[in-house]
Amino acid sequence: MKRIPEPFRIKMVEPIKMTTKEYRRKALAEAGYNPFALKSEDVYIDLLTDSGTGAMSDNQWAGLMKGDEAYAGSKNFYNLKDAVHHFFRYEYLIPTHQGRGAEQILFPALLNRQKEIRGGGEDTQPVFISNYHFDTTAAHVELNGAKAINVVTEKAFDTTTYYDWKGDFDLEKLEAAIAEHGAKNVAAIITTVTCNSSGGQPVSLANMRAVYEIAQKNDIPVVIDSARYCENAYFIKQREEGYADVSVTDIIREMYSYGDMLTMSAKKDPLVNIGGMCAIREKKELFQAVQTLCVPMEGFVTYGGLAGRDMEALARGMHEGADEDFLSYRIGQVKYLGDRLVEGGVPIQYPTGGHAVFVDAKKIMTHIPGHQFPAQALINALYIESGVRAVEIGSFLLGRDPETGEQKESPLELMRLTIPRRVYTNDHMDYIADALIEVAKNAEDYKGFDFEYEPPVLRHFTARLKPL
Ligand SMILES: *Cc1c(COP(=O)(O)O)cnc(C)c1O
Repeated sequence: MKRIPEPFRIKMVEPIKMTTKEYRRKALAEAGYNPFALKSEDVYIDLLTDSGTGAMSDNQWAGLMKGDEAYAGSKNFYNLKDAVHHFFRYEYLIPTHQGRGAEQILFPALLNRQKEIRGGGEDTQPVFISNYHFDTTAAHVELNGAKAINVVTEKAFDTTTYYDWKGDFDLEKLEAAIAEHGAKNVAAIITTVTCNSSGGQPVSLANMRAVYEIAQKNDIPVVIDSARYCENAYFIKQREEGYADVSVTDIIREMYSYGDMLTMSAKKDPLVNIGGMCAIREKKELFQAVQTLCVPMEGFVTYGGLAGRDMEALARGMHEGADEDFLSYRIGQVKYLGDRLVEGGVPIQYPTGGHAVFVDAKKIMTHIPGHQFPAQALINALYIESGVRAVEIGSFLLGRDPETGEQKESPLELMRLTIPRRVYTNDHMDYIADALIEVAKNAEDYKGFDFEYEPPVLRHFTARLKPL
């Protein structure tokens, strides 16, 4: 089991409050047994998400002082444009406040383009096809009256069997979906790297290339959903034949040669706490249409909802996020936690992806049925044991059937341990593993939950539970 040392040293620290089990029991009861409602100061290690939770470097903090807060044409916009061109070779850039900001200005423009140029989508519903649409991506597709279709490889759903590319498109399903809906009704193909919804699993270059060929043959634009493009490139360097000696930068350039445009949540790989962008390779008219939407929705076209200083931190973060020593430590740290858990008998989605370890709670809390939320029970137990906050991806998140009101049955009951970038040390990983192995050993001591208060929509954020 390899422990890759941190490629940085610490020059500023943020103390964390140390609490007792008794304190955490009380805090959790007050939070209605829903860790979303905990105060962050009552959490020792926070693994809720890797989004916007990374630590900036001294170089990025120094960049904040270089903020040019001009309303139009800020220096920092041009620095960001240079970084975008350096990695992706895309000509046109529109900054946005975060990833969903890019989705809300690009998708309507793509649908208009589809209608005008292609004559499609007038009497039939337009569709977007992706390996897997992220939640907000699917939401923006649907808000615009289109349908989101996922065609990820079946291997993604088999958690225990090793496969290098659990983020890949199933190419047969992709071609079948295009044939079924008609190429002219497909507004875009969205390649999500890494595939967040299958567990931060990578997409191979061979697959991206094949998807792009299919898209070109059918005259369908390809959007690369880019939250974790550096992690994806690093997996390609590790796993894909012929790429071991290719630099991550060159791999990123090849990845983006298999797309026409990108949307990005910069809160992930580019190491900033807020930010995003849309970039387009060469379609100037589409760029102009997106710019037109940007002004009323996000802000003027050279800041898109970001301060000049935020764009500077992002431009610098893009270079740091693609650094190979950093990526080796980053992916290595997630893998290290996964390996320690496997060794301790804790079942996980295997292999680990780029940003999180998914623990199979159904196999641990075997005595708790789905409608009593086994993963939520595991998360509560882990918090009380250790102060570690994880997040549920299972029945609690899934909710009820809107027609029958029945709790839907989730095929997987997962606890996600999402690792923020450059925030926690490998000692923290050992602490998490030790605590979880202990909890899993005593699984039968823990009970399921029922609702005390259940909100009608997106219940997982604000629900209150009671132990059974
Ligand atoms: C986070 C994420 C988004 C949305 O980005 P936000 O910055 O949260 O708005 C879109 N796609 C993927 C794959 C993501 O991980």
